[in-house]
Amino acid sequence: MTDCIFCKIANHEIPTTPVFENDKVIAFNDLEPQAPVHILVIPKKHVASVKDVEDLEMMKDLFDAVQKIVKEKNITDFRTVINTGKEAGQSVFHLHIHILAGRPLLWPPG
Ligand code: AMP
Repeated sequence: MTDCIFCKIANHEIPTTPVFENDKVIAFNDLEPQAPVHILVIPKKHVASVKDVEDLEMMKDLFDAVQKIVKEKNITDFRTVINTGKEAGQSVFHLHIHILAGRPLLWPPG
């Protein structure tokens, strides 16, 4: 989608160093990491949020990538987050899963 920053990353219009990539998914480090490990896993196809996913295969592809990333990095304890909507903290309206790890993570979140 034009003007979507994550579409530009997915299309390599904005240079990025992928943590993981296949034909459906790309993962890269968050620009403003909130933990020693802070990776974003996104579908290459533009979908604004989890509410807008029509084919749930997309979620399988994303979580398949999450599993591969944590396995490859030997991360045993981590949090996955999907913010949906402004009030929940979504600031980029292209679906993404945050992977956070490398420090104790508070629960419940703020
Ligand atoms: P959210 O607030 O859940 O929508 O998460 C969006 C995330 O994208 C934030 O953690 C931002 O720091 C991150 N972000 C925004 N632009 C970029 C970018 N160009 N490269 C990497 N991460 C980004």
